[in-house]
Amino acid sequence: MKKIIAMILVAMLALAGVSAMAESLKMCTNVAFPPYEFYGEDGEATGIDVEIAKAIAAKLGYDLEVVDIEFAQCIPGVQSGKYDFSAAGMTVTEERKQMVQFTDTYATGIQSIIVPEDSTVESLDDFVEANGTVKVGVQMATTGDLYTTWDYEDEGKGTVDRYTNGAAAVQALLAGKVDCVVIDNEPAKNFVAQNEGLKILDTAYAVEDYAMAFSKESPIYDDFNAALAELIEDGTVQSIIDTFIPAA
Ligand code: GLN
Repeated sequence: MKKIIAMILVAMLALAGVSAMAESLKMCTNVAFPPYEFYGEDGEATGIDVEIAKAIAAKLGYDLEVVDIEFAQCIPGVQSGKYDFSAAGMTVTEERKQMVQFTDTYATGIQSIIVPEDSTVESLDDFVEANGTVKVGVQMATTGDLYTTWDYEDEGKGTVDRYTNGAAAVQALLAGKVDCVVIDNEPAKNFVAQNEGLKILDTAYAVEDYAMAFSKESPIYDDFNAALAELIEDGTVQSIIDTFIPAA
């Protein structure tokens, strides 16, 4: 009997030790997508996705670990269970829904077109009309990549150059290697503000919804999504968005 009590005590102590150290949730993202994810002045990842994920993790009693990888690796990384989830300004699409499950939508995204400031075009079709083709720069495996590939490359109306992040695509535009960059509107605004000689066309290319992605077997998906819904409901999510996207 004494032995059993001793064993129970040891087990209880071990459990207490483990629970004193909060477990972390591993979030994968590409930390070059301001204002959703970028490195702050202290060298730590921050941004809308990071802060919303931190608030959800805290609500559920976890720490948050942000792992910086290529956007193209985010869905495979979640599917294989290497990461608990991905928050990466990720657009909900039917194709991706076959591979992962999405949380509720927490932001709207727009695919915008960045061109040189002196450009007179109003759309991608204007390039095709003027030159017979359009050279588009995108971030690999993003919706900007998918849609321009379908609409222009597959139609024989242009070529799509795929870069590992948005900043590299913008550098290619500045170097004259592509005619334009198709990328999400908020990062586009940041890139245009940081670089001389660029502008965003008034006409958006596509409007979309952002959500966080989980594997279909994820044991924490339901709790996580419920916590997100509460933070949307109580205004926390909007106040995080407002911190990073000041009202115009
Ligand atoms: N919203 C785009 C997509 O989901 C781009 C996201 C990103 O580059 N981080 O494809």
